[in-house]
Parts: sequence; structure tokens; C-alpha cells
Amino acid sequence: MRDVPLKCECGQISATASDLSRKNSNRAICHCDDCQAFARHLGGEALDDLGGTDIIQFSPAHLTFTSGLENLKCLRLTEKGLLRWYAGCCQTPIGNTMPTPALPFVGVIHSFFDLSAEQYDDAFGPVTGHVFTKTATGDEAQIAALKKAGPTDWFKLVRLLLTWKLKGDSKRHVFFDSETGEPIVRPHVLGAGSEEVAS
Ligand SMILES: [Zn+2]
Ligand SMILES: [Zn+2]
Repeated sequence: MRDVPLKCECGQISATASDLSRKNSNRAICHCDDCQAFARHLGGEALDDLGGTDIIQFSPAHLTFTSGLENLKCLRLTEKGLLRWYAGCCQTPIGNTMPTPALPFVGVIHSFFDLSAEQYDDAFGPVTGHVFTKTATGDEAQIAALKKAGPTDWFKLVRLLLTWKLKGDSKRHVFFDSETGEPIVRPHVLGAGSEEVAS
């Protein structure tokens, strides 16, 4: 398709997602407690009215950072949780990855895309589903409606994950050192001391 621009709110961190399309990505809104806690930790602006985070899931092999990588921060909510990446310069949520590159997957949060709402819908299509609606917050009638709308297309996501794995994208995972498999920034556990940057 085309190259999709990404940047944090203050513009110090920028990235490009090349050849990203509706076909090789999956759009979902996650209402889980952890995504809400992460968003709220960074100010809460990334959340919608129902405590949802709009996420585009794709292979990290598409992603290249073009500036400001030194401002990249990583946290996890618990010792074993997902790695949650954000911009230390302006607290923009960036996205989520697994703790290791074995499953080459990144869920990039809408706040990191440098697109208008219209361009975003055009690039990734309408929301196909909501996950963890049990923990959605807000208007009861709206929550009931999104539960009815159904879950995300898990079949598509699993098929995509297998494709990325077989293509060897674990070795092209921008958030991990390709030699050691370690995250490029050492994650800090929320509330557990200060942050350290991996050398
Ligand atoms: Zn920034
Ligand atoms: Zn979530």
C-alpha cells in the first residue's frame, strides 16, 4: 500500500510503517484493565469514552524509527506483563509488544499515528471488533451495543501472526536487539523504582 507516518505528540520520535494495509494489519479496540491503566498512567488521552484503546496490530518488520529513539521508554504493569512502549518526551502512548520477539507482533496505539481520523479510518478500515468488553467503562447502553457488535476477528489475527512468524519477522523486530533478543530499552515495572536505559 503506502508508507504510513507516525510520530509522538511533540514530534521528537518519528517512525514510518512501510507497506501497511488493511490486509496485513488488524484494527481492534481493547478495553482491558491493563490497557486502561497504561493509558491513564500517561494522562488518559488515548482512551475513548468507553475506556477503549484503538490499536492497529501488525508485524514489527514494517516499522522503522526515523528520529528520537533516545526518548523511547518501556514499562510493564507487572513482572510478566506485555511490554508497553511510550514516548518519554511527551508521554504519547506508542504501542504494546510481547516480552520477547518470538511472537513478532506490535499493537500500535492510534495516538502514535500521524494521521487525521479520516486518514486513519481510510488506511485501516472500520473497527472490526472490541476485546475485553467486560471491563469497558462508561455509558451502559453504549457498552451493551459494543458487546453486541462482536469480538475482533481472531481468525484473521492468528493467520497474520503465523505468517509473520514463518517469514522470520522475529529477527526484524524493531523493539528488540536482533542479536540478543533483548528489548532495546530496559522495561521498568510500574511503581517499582526508577527507569534504567539498557546500554
Ligand atoms: Zn514526544
Ligand atoms: Zn488491552
